[in-house]
This record gives sequence, C-alpha cells and structure tokens, in this order.
Amino acid sequence: MSKMRIDKLLSNMGYGTRKEIKNFIKEGLVAINNVTIDDPGFAVQPDKDIITFRSEKISYKEYIYIMMNKPKGVICATYDPSEKTVVDLLPHHIKARKVFPAGRLDKDTEGLLLITNDGELSHKLLSPKKHVFKKYYAEVLGFIDEDDVSLFSDGILLDDGYKTMPAKLEIISSGSTSKVYVSIREGKYHQIKRMFEAIGSKVVYLKRLSIGQLKLDENLKEGEWRELNEEEIKLLK
Ligand code: URA
Repeated sequence: MSKMRIDKLLSNMGYGTRKEIKNFIKEGLVAINNVTIDDPGFAVQPDKDIITFRSEKISYKEYIYIMMNKPKGVICATYDPSEKTVVDLLPHHIKARKVFPAGRLDKDTEGLLLITNDGELSHKLLSPKKHVFKKYYAEVLGFIDEDDVSLFSDGILLDDGYKTMPAKLEIISSGSTSKVYVSIREGKYHQIKRMFEAIGSKVVYLKRLSIGQLKLDENLKEGEWRELNEEEIKLLK
C-alpha cells in the first residue's frame, strides 16, 4: 500500500473532517509508531505503521465493501448532474474512498447492490465467464408455466438478436400477475425485462436478492446500507 497523509487516512475512515482531524492532531491525539505527531501532512504507510487515535490502534483497510438495499428512483452511478445516485446515499467519508456500484440495477429495480472500490472483485462478479449467478424476485404480467422455465433454461432470444446464457426460472405462483425467481449470470441492458418481453410478458416489479453466495440482509430497509463483514467478503472472493 502506498503512503498517505494521516489527516486524509483518518478522515477517510470517518473520524472527522480534514479540519477536525487537523485539530485532533494539534491536540496530540494521534500517534504513529507510538510517537505523538503534530503534522497533519505526516505520511504514513497504512499497512506497516502503527497508527493510534485517542490511544486506540487503527487498522486501515484498502478496500471497502458495502451492501445496499437499493431503493427505487435512484440510479446506479457515482455521479449524475440531474439524478440521485446510489453513491449520493452514502456519507462523505465513504464517498471519499472512491467507491462505485459493482454492476447496475435499473432505476426502478430494488435490492442487493454491492458498492466497493475493489475493481478486481467487481470485475469478477460481473464477468459472465465467472458464473456468478444473480438471483432476482420478479412480478410479471400473465401466466408463467413450465414451458417458460424450459425457454429460460435454453436461453432466450432478445430483441437485438442476442441469445442469453441459460437462466433459471422458478415459479412461486402463476396467475394474472405471476411471482417468480430468476437467476442470471450476465448483465445485459434491461436483461430480465427483455427476457420476459420475449416470452410475451412484462416485468412490473424487480428486486435483486443475491449475488453468488451473498444474500441481501433482510434487516436493511430500502435505501439502507452496511459494510460487509469478513465472512461475507470471503463469500464473494
Ligand atoms: N434485469 C433488468 O431488466 N433490470 C435490472 O435492473 C436487473 C436485471
């Protein structure tokens, strides 16, 4: 890990704004390798130096992993001039870690979204070759039957001529509006909506439930988020 300014490191970790951190340092609350420092620009090696704040040892992690229950009405982007983004729902000290959503959910789709600054993991989760299935709950118009399940497992021909990889369709209930689970391992534009359009149906509600082994924490209300714990991070790697 490369060296970084101590005031930046502490503010990235949520201990205060850069200004507040400067004051803490002036007050003698920060030590590096057991020596109190007075320079906010002091360069530390986060993975080697012993950093203490208010006499407590701090361990700085390069990557951050956030699980969000994405609400409807916000877009999956880091910045947008006119729309609210998922990153706008995070506090400044998390945004400062240069996080981005790993993959996209449509503006009207809800559910599990991973937000991270770990580009390698993001790539792994999104690459169809890595076979990481994403499971969704969907409500769709019209009856869904076993023939549709077979069509999904064969792969669906989309409006642009692309044939999807085999997908798993599980019927929860079938009626004028049907409830289903769909698992796909690709992320083509509006993929699930277009798959149902191709079989003459229409998605009216869509929520992502899991990415590989990682499940949405049901305690998270729409728009809420939390950091992944160590076990959850391992599930993704
Ligand atoms: N498929 C869609 O159509 N929309 C999403 O948001 C995710 C998958």
